[in-house]
Amino acid sequence: MKRRDFIKTAGLGAATTAVAAPALAQSHPQVRWRMASSFPKSLDTLYGTAEMIAGRVSRLTEGRFEIRVFAGGEIVPPLQVLDAVQNGTVECGQSASYYYIGKNPALAFDTALPFGMNARQQNAWMYYGGGLQLTREMFSRYNIVNFPCGNTGTQMAGWYRKEIKSVADLKGLKMRVAGLAGMILEKLGVVPQQIGGADIYPALEKGTIDAAEWVGPYDDEKLGFYKVAKYYYYPGWWEGSAQLSIYVNSKQWASLPKPYQEALEVACAEANINMMARYDAKNTEALRKLVNAGAQLRAFPRPVMEACYNVAQDLYAEFSAKSPEFKKIYGSWSQFRDNQYLWFRVAENTFDNFVYSIKKK
Ligand code: CA
Repeated sequence: MKRRDFIKTAGLGAATTAVAAPALAQSHPQVRWRMASSFPKSLDTLYGTAEMIAGRVSRLTEGRFEIRVFAGGEIVPPLQVLDAVQNGTVECGQSASYYYIGKNPALAFDTALPFGMNARQQNAWMYYGGGLQLTREMFSRYNIVNFPCGNTGTQMAGWYRKEIKSVADLKGLKMRVAGLAGMILEKLGVVPQQIGGADIYPALEKGTIDAAEWVGPYDDEKLGFYKVAKYYYYPGWWEGSAQLSIYVNSKQWASLPKPYQEALEVACAEANINMMARYDAKNTEALRKLVNAGAQLRAFPRPVMEACYNVAQDLYAEFSAKSPEFKKIYGSWSQFRDNQYLWFRVAENTFDNFVYSIKKK
């Protein structure tokens, strides 16, 4: 290479590098947002996901787009995150949309409906079955753009001081359970109780309540329920999966430079995979510890499951009759779910049943 050419090439290289590195900095502003989470820091898998998203967004934008995460109660109470994003108190939030079914039962489609889909099926509906489009139409009325940001997978049905052997055993059962599950169980005689996470243990210990549902082995173990209510029931049919969401105020979203939008979107998608993987990895060890500590695993008897299933279907018919929006989303969701069930019972279910039951060689 001639010296002149070398200088030209090297010069071009240097110039390209000099321009490329600060390009994002020059063309895009420093943006600082606040994210209000519904979750306490102690639920590290849920709250930790919000921190993970903020970190990834910052690194993807070379520190130009910074999101500061606040735990539930730090800026607004845990169950007011939707309102805070809607009215612009914060630019974004992390929550579970079924907390807000009092405003609109259709919001549950963004998290979970009893006897709904597992985490894989929920993702399939959201990304390829019209779910994201339908839920975004709904959220646009709340000035929010929603993003799936994680899933707990199928939850446990919680901790019971006595065994549930029949539908009759539900009568008068004082249980810490909320949302649609609470409405369904109430029709079968359960007395639903609304109790914050920190107050469940003493209530179970004193016998003020007879049962409590929380999440799954990893989160449940930390609260020590097995010491005061030894029967650990499954499955949590009200949460065949539970999707968490990031809410972004619509105006704030529109004002974001395109690369920042991409960064946030991709960080949420990554978080959606990560949360499920983390729960699956951690639940195994936690369940083993719980059983070693004396937890008695129990599956709900089929007649109990069937009774709850039937009440759930009646409830969806009621909501559909009252709300055209619920009816519209339920139509898409239930058809997609039924098709997923058809597919999953062929290969997936046959495979699962075999490998979980085969005697190890
Ligand atoms: Ca739960």
